[in-house]
Amino acid sequence: MELKVMKGTDFDVLIVGGGPGGLSAAKFCALKGLSVLLIEKQPAIMAWKPCGEATSKETFKTAGISPKPSIVLKEAYALVFAPNMNYVEIKQRGYSINKTYFLQEMAAQAAKAGARIHVRESFEDLAYEGDVVKIKTSRSVYKTWVLIGADGYNSTVAKAVGISEKSEPIPTLQYVMVNVKLRYPDAVRFFLGNKIAPGGYAWIFPKSDEIASVGIGVRGAPAKVYLDKFVELFREELGRAQIIDYRGALVPIGGMIRDSVRKGVILIGDAAGTVIPFTGAGIHSSIAAGKVAADVAAEAVERKDNSERTLRAFREKYYDPWGRRIERSLKAMRIFEKLSDEDLNELSRILDSSDILDLANGLNLKRVAKKLLQHPILAAKIAKKLM
Ligand SMILES: Cc1cc2nc3c(=O)[nH]c(=O)nc-3n(C[C@H](O)[C@H](O)[C@H](O)COP(=O)(O)OP(=O)(O)OC[C@H]3O[C@@H](n4cnc5c(N)ncnc54)[C@H](O)[C@@H]3O)c2cc1C
Repeated sequence: MELKVMKGTDFDVLIVGGGPGGLSAAKFCALKGLSVLLIEKQPAIMAWKPCGEATSKETFKTAGISPKPSIVLKEAYALVFAPNMNYVEIKQRGYSINKTYFLQEMAAQAAKAGARIHVRESFEDLAYEGDVVKIKTSRSVYKTWVLIGADGYNSTVAKAVGISEKSEPIPTLQYVMVNVKLRYPDAVRFFLGNKIAPGGYAWIFPKSDEIASVGIGVRGAPAKVYLDKFVELFREELGRAQIIDYRGALVPIGGMIRDSVRKGVILIGDAAGTVIPFTGAGIHSSIAAGKVAADVAAEAVERKDNSERTLRAFREKYYDPWGRRIERSLKAMRIFEKLSDEDLNELSRILDSSDILDLANGLNLKRVAKKLLQHPILAAKIAKKLM
C-alpha cells in the first residue's frame, strides 16, 4: 500500500509503548494507510509488566486476532468467592492467555499493515515546531503529526505535555507458581473480602494444570503480607509450589483521567486510566482505545488539523461504550469497597452470574439494583446507590 505522510513530518503517527494499547493503535493506524512508528523502550515486544493474562473472547474480536493455541492457554470459566468461600459461577467463558505471544501477534499484524516498530528506543521529550510535534527519543529525533502515548501508568508522554492528573492506583503483586495442584484447573478464581484483600481482591488464574498466576491487589495494606497469607490459606493447592516470577505494578482503577489530550497528543490505555475499575482488567479496554485513537489520528491527518479540540474527539468516540462502562464500574466499585464481609457473604447468596458481570463491567447496574431493592438491608446499602 502507498503510504501517505503528512508534509514536514517523518511519520503521521508516532506511538510510544508496545503494550496492548500501543500495538492496537499501530495496527489500526497502519490499516488506515497512515505512516506509523511505534517505539518500545524494552529490548523486545513482550509482556514485561506483570499481568494475570485473563481476558474475554471479545478482546480477540476487537484486536482482530484469532485465538490460536499458541496464544490461548486455557478456555476458562470464572468463580467469584465471597469471604465465607461461597462462590458464584460465571458461566461466560474467557481465555487465560500467553500475553507475550498475544502482543507479538499484534506486532506481526501491525508490521504486516505497514507499521514500523523499534524496540530498545525510549521516548524522552517533545517540543512543537509550528503544528508539528518533534519527538526526542534515546536514539533519534522524529517529527510527527500525532503522538499516541500508550506508555502505561507512569506515562513519560503525559509528563512531557504537563498532564499531572493520575487515576487512583491500586498496588498489585503477583507470583507465577509452578507445581501447583489446582482444585479448579479450568477456572479463573477471584476472592473478595476485607480479611483476604482489603480494598481489592486476590486471584488464582491457571496457565496450565501445573502453572498458575496467584496475585493480589490491596489498598491501604501491604500486598506481600496479604499475598503470602493467601498462599498459605491455599496450601493444599499451592503448598508444594515454587515461585518462578515475582513482580508487582500499579493498576489505575480510579477511572479515566479527564485531561488526556493535548495538541498533537492523545494518551490511551493505562496512561489515560482506561482500566475497568472493579475488575482491574485493562487489556480489552486499551486495545479498544488504540482503535479509537487510530480513527481520530486518521481524521487529524486527513483534515490537516491536530489541534487539541480535534483530538478531543477521542474522548467522545471512546465514551460509548468504554468510557461509560468505566464510569459505571467505578460507581459499583465505590459502593462495594465499603461493604463488610457479612454483606459480601449475603450478596453471594443473591447475585447470579449475569448480575456479577453487569456490576463488574459497568453494564446494566439498574437491573441489578432492582433485584437488590427487594432485600431489607442491601436495598439501602447498594440498590439505591446504584440507581
Ligand atoms: C498484576 C496485574 C495483573 C493484571 N491482570 C490483568 C488481567 O488478567 N486481564 C486484564 O485485562 N488486565 C490485567 N491487568 C491490566 C493490564 O495489564 C493493563 O491494563 C494493560 O496491559 C494496559 O495496556 P497499555 O498498553 O495501556 O500499557 P502497558 O501494558 O503498561 O504497556 C506500556 C508499554 O509502554 C512501554 N513504555 C513505557 N515508557 C516508555 C517510554 N518512555 N518509551 C518507550 N516505551 C515505553 C512499556 O515498556 C510497555 O511495554 C493487570 C495488571 C497488573 C499490574
